[in-house]
Amino acid sequence: MVERAPRPCSALKVLIIPTDSAKFQRNPEPGEPLPLEEKLTPIITEALAAAGRSPASFNGMDGVRAIFDSQGLDLNEKMAIERLVLTALDKARAEGRIPLDLQPVIYFRRSGNPSEINRPVTPSTKPKSGPFGVRFARRPIPGVKHVVLVASGKGGVGKSTVSANLAVALAKDHRVGLLDADVYGPSAQILLGLNGSMPVTSGSKLIPLEGHGVKVVSFGFLTDPTQPVIWRGPMVSKALEQFFYDVEWGELDYLIVDMPPGTGDVQMTFAERLPVAGAVIVTTPQDVALIDAHKALSMFEKLAVPVLGAVENMAWFSCPGCGHEEHIFGHEAFQDFLKARQLKLLARIPLRKEIRIHSDKGMPSARSSDGESNLPWNALAACIHAALPLEELLVAPQHPE
Ligand code: ADP
Repeated sequence: MVERAPRPCSALKVLIIPTDSAKFQRNPEPGEPLPLEEKLTPIITEALAAAGRSPASFNGMDGVRAIFDSQGLDLNEKMAIERLVLTALDKARAEGRIPLDLQPVIYFRRSGNPSEINRPVTPSTKPKSGPFGVRFARRPIPGVKHVVLVASGKGGVGKSTVSANLAVALAKDHRVGLLDADVYGPSAQILLGLNGSMPVTSGSKLIPLEGHGVKVVSFGFLTDPTQPVIWRGPMVSKALEQFFYDVEWGELDYLIVDMPPGTGDVQMTFAERLPVAGAVIVTTPQDVALIDAHKALSMFEKLAVPVLGAVENMAWFSCPGCGHEEHIFGHEAFQDFLKARQLKLLARIPLRKEIRIHSDKGMPSARSSDGESNLPWNALAACIHAALPLEELLVAPQHPE
């Protein structure tokens, strides 16, 4: 018979923090099955040994977290270990050795550092209650002032195009990074005309590539563009976490994050864990896209992420022959969406052949000298800057006694 684990393991796996591990840590009564972590430890050690890896890097379980020493491991090595362990756990689940819905988190920690595990959850920024009542803190990214998530409920609406052009337009006056977190279809490297791989510092930190004044980190630098990405949720979340925290971002005014489309585990994890200054919803004015935009918006509302407003992409098409404007994807439904959700309109971007061509050539429209091409992006950047200013708060003058 398959033993059931507490519910929090089945979803939002990456969020699980030691709060719940106490349930696994009590001593078993005589005749009671072994605590889960004692079952997991030999599965993981055997998997490492079978693959010819030293089990020494495995520092044991903390509740449902499998802790590894990250010393000397680069991102590829970490992902290889993660894959190995997840495969072993899949097998153990299939054999009924561990509960079907138990999904341990694989956690890398540098030895010698103060233990992340024992560190109290400090309210560095607003702590809040997650969907399972788990409390956590948003961890700031050193040197980064504002993290802006660009999201869409649906793929193909121009989210990556908007992310890249927004980043480039902001970079005209500010220090900007672009993190392409769209793991299943990374395109930042194409949109900004970059290729190659990210160098790694001696301290195992990734160095972003730079294009059009923007520091770029993308899954596209790690994956083969001709192969489908088959990473599983926990691996994606872990890799993304490294993309935020194990990167030499330097000082950034804005870090634009091109989110994967949808409202699944990965999106929720990042909306919850990151110190997000605001989210931007990108949609076309078409009903079918707006349904998913509603969902994305509701996700942010539930997770208390401030939404800065919406971008209406492919809002209209001007006939190059007669100048007639056609609302190919409709118009009223988008207006209704704004009104119903009390959302601010950040920008309306037309459907233009030039935008597509610029994107394909790695020369974003925001960099074009043609006003018709760059104006909408400059306007969007100005809106974001107005919503998230950089000026230091003025200190009230001290009155003499
Ligand atoms: P998503 O990130 O939402 O999947 P993309 O940004 O990759 O969408 O855009 C999908 C396709 O639509 C791309 O080929 C892109 O060049 C094109 N595209 C996006 N916005 C526009 C636009 N305003 N005008 C013309 N083509 C666009």
